[in-house]
Amino acid sequence: MVVMKFGGTSVADQTAVERLIAIVRAQRQADAQQEGGDARGPIVVVSALSKVTDRLLGIAANAGAGDIEGAQTNLRDLRQRHKAISKVIVDAVQREQVIQFLDQEFDGLERIVQALAVLREVSPRWLDAIAATGELLSSRMVAAALRAHGLLAAWIDARRAVVTTGDHTAAAPLFPETTSALMAHVDPPLAAGRIPVVGGFVGATTDGVTTTLGRGGSDYSAAIVGACLGAGEIQIWTDVDGMLTADPRIVNDPFVVPHLSFAEASELAYFGAKVLHPATIQPAVARSIPVRILNSHRPHARGTLITGERPPSSRPLTAIASKKEVSVVSITSTRMLMAHGFLRRLFEVFERWKTAVDVITTSEVTVSVTIDDRRRLPAIMEALSEFAEVDAEHDMAIVCVVGEGLQSDPGLIGQVLQGVGDVPIQLVSQAASRRNVTFVIREADLPHALNQLHGQFFAAEPAPAGLA
Ligand code: ASP
Ligand code: MG
Repeated sequence: MVVMKFGGTSVADQTAVERLIAIVRAQRQADAQQEGGDARGPIVVVSALSKVTDRLLGIAANAGAGDIEGAQTNLRDLRQRHKAISKVIVDAVQREQVIQFLDQEFDGLERIVQALAVLREVSPRWLDAIAATGELLSSRMVAAALRAHGLLAAWIDARRAVVTTGDHTAAAPLFPETTSALMAHVDPPLAAGRIPVVGGFVGATTDGVTTTLGRGGSDYSAAIVGACLGAGEIQIWTDVDGMLTADPRIVNDPFVVPHLSFAEASELAYFGAKVLHPATIQPAVARSIPVRILNSHRPHARGTLITGERPPSSRPLTAIASKKEVSVVSITSTRMLMAHGFLRRLFEVFERWKTAVDVITTSEVTVSVTIDDRRRLPAIMEALSEFAEVDAEHDMAIVCVVGEGLQSDPGLIGQVLQGVGDVPIQLVSQAASRRNVTFVIREADLPHALNQLHGQFFAAEPAPAGLA
């Protein structure tokens, strides 16, 4: 049984929904061919229509600021967009029912928003109630659209399927409870030969209070559902061909990485290759369920497969990720010499100002770290200067070269660093796991460095990505 997750752009409009239907139908047919009569699934997980979550959060912000008119205008817009799409993707038989559902949800939302605008306060709990609407609507619409095209879909209210903690806006799944809920609400339609359609991102506490799993949470939902029901594969359908060997905005000829280990995918994601956040597929990886990233515009492209381990490849490096607009903060103190507790004190400052640190290097007297959020840097520098000399450099970039080959070939790191040519390298970091080398250069040098590296290690791919 396969779980298929479709992101916001894959449900954005009529054309996108029609593509989704064709893709689900093909999967259904392939399963039937393989399994004979009793094929199960797939289970379809959908995001909100593209940009809708942002709009809903904007409406919540309107309400929090007491801007009733702004909230209402935005709500009218959203209602209109959902209705317009429903009218074209749903057949006459179901149309009235779906429109009624939309109206009911939007009426409810309007009442909530009005009340919150009076109070001028939006608690995380209400934020979740508002944000969750996007997926509740899109899933209902997609289920009806599938049925309109002759596929036996069953809409599942995500609040009955995924059980979470009460940590609003970033709720964590409760796996045993979710498994029971899925057995109660998703397994019966599956067993009856139907295709369950469930909104991603959304869940509810054991008391039935609506929660969300955090931004980008639909991938997480797919992995949770797949893990709890023991899926054979989880497919993440998006609008790119998969994970690329480098950023196509910077490198001329990147191509799709066919197979990544989970650890490689994680390293890449931290520094910019934002196709999916690796933490979101953790439940799948923990159960050894393969995750495939696929392009709904080019359903026959091979995509990227992510598994716990991957078979060895002839290429020593897997991909290069990069991140612009970072700052390097260097902290120098002779007090660090042979002292303990210095690092704790130093990082406590970053923690106090809630600023995440990406790359860290240390020498005997200097610690350098990179940050990408500069908002609290002045306060951080002031606090650090109480016990050290502090210096910050902006307009820097991180390059993260990933490949299991770094483990087996000790000479490779030297070749990588030489590969950037005459570009000055500021920091270099390699963890003991030796799956990546990360270094920091000036942002202005990034295009040159990346193209040099890519040309050297990723030349001569027979089939280019052909980006959609
Ligand atoms: N709609 C949610 C968001 O925009 C969840 C998702 O699309 O994965 O974050
Ligand atoms: Mg996403």
